[in-house]
Amino acid sequence: MKRFGLKHYVFLLLAVCTTAFCCVAQTIAPTIFPIPIEFEVSSTDYVVLDKVTLTCADSQAQEWAEKHLKEWYGKYRPAVEFSSGKVAVTEDEGYTLVVDESGVRISALTLQGARYALYSLRQLAIPQRGVAEVNGWIVPKTNIKDSPKMNFRGVHICWFHETEPWEVERLIRLAAYYKMNYAVIESWGTFRSDVAPWFGWQDGTMTKKEIKRLKAIADDLGITLIPQINVFGHAAQARSHAGKHATLDVDSKYQPLFEPLAGWNWCLSNPETRKLLQALIKERYEAFGHPPFFHIGCDEANQPSCPDCASQSYSKLFVEHVKAMNDTISSLGARTIMWHDMLISWEPRWNGFVTNGTKETAEGFLKLPRDIIVADWYYGGAKSEYPTIDYFKSHGFSVLTSPWNTVEGIKAQCQYAHKSGIMGVLGTTWHYYYGQEMYKIY
Ligand SMILES: [Zn+2]
Repeated sequence: MKRFGLKHYVFLLLAVCTTAFCCVAQTIAPTIFPIPIEFEVSSTDYVVLDKVTLTCADSQAQEWAEKHLKEWYGKYRPAVEFSSGKVAVTEDEGYTLVVDESGVRISALTLQGARYALYSLRQLAIPQRGVAEVNGWIVPKTNIKDSPKMNFRGVHICWFHETEPWEVERLIRLAAYYKMNYAVIESWGTFRSDVAPWFGWQDGTMTKKEIKRLKAIADDLGITLIPQINVFGHAAQARSHAGKHATLDVDSKYQPLFEPLAGWNWCLSNPETRKLLQALIKERYEAFGHPPFFHIGCDEANQPSCPDCASQSYSKLFVEHVKAMNDTISSLGARTIMWHDMLISWEPRWNGFVTNGTKETAEGFLKLPRDIIVADWYYGGAKSEYPTIDYFKSHGFSVLTSPWNTVEGIKAQCQYAHKSGIMGVLGTTWHYYYGQEMYKIY
């Protein structure tokens, strides 16, 4: 048995150093991602996975275990022996997983904890050895005690015009497997709206029926889906350098809703804009089955280019607009999430971090309601301090940190989130949902 973390690597080093003197093979030890808080595992001592004894305070866990063990292992699935007796953990999403001579034992307080134990089991189990075809499964002797260190462990998923629904499903399934609990789904002009059927590409694949299907999968796997509509910049719902506009390319009569400069921003002074966005938010909220959060984007907006917006205080317009969106979301029973970059403008103290705001939007930030959650994105390597996170937190906002595809940055931001006690992490994927980049992100 050996413990992962530093000791694990010391063990591996010793194994390497001693191979010259004995016949013990150098091995790749079984592992789990993310690495559990307490984790001992054998590389060589396995038991047959023929039964799982599951103790859980939530009786739904039995049905869930039976359903998914069948999905994973088919006719070679282990039997489930369920008990609602005394549980070995106190954390809501915590679990223990013990595998020894007497079998496989899981203990969890909630269904979510039981899911996490079974995802760990799935990561450790391998087919029986010494045969040509699978005829059963084995699992290494292990001793795990684990629970999540943050409440919000999310991933942000983009649904582009080119994205197939199965790709989104795969990202959701993988997020669950790695014990995340939220997935933000941003439509890039692909949502099929009944409120405004002209809003976005006419052949978008993000239909209400498809969302319902994905939500059912996500709910079952322990992931809550969160919708996103960009209510400030990114109104084109296409990349700026693509020169596309998912709405105006299809029907240009809706130009007054957008700023004249490429239609990138919504026109905040137009009362029709606000009415439309509020209706779209309500529709999306219904389509996503009343989620606890709603993401309103708000990153990378331009300065206004229309005479109506330019002739008044943009700070005031910005604050009133965001407040109106937040009021709508609050009235539905959810909390608003927004990107951070328009909420700060360049100052020496933000050197090396992302600022896209003007003095006006940065002043406006201080007047925003404190129930808004600020998602602070930073895509670089590791930093020892994250002053922007501290700044938003010091003004009474809940904060998420959002890394992208830099492994050292992802690690450092997760550690900082834990250390500083913010709400959690919302990782981003953007257009990298395949290959090496996706591997690093997940
Ligand atoms: Zn305007």
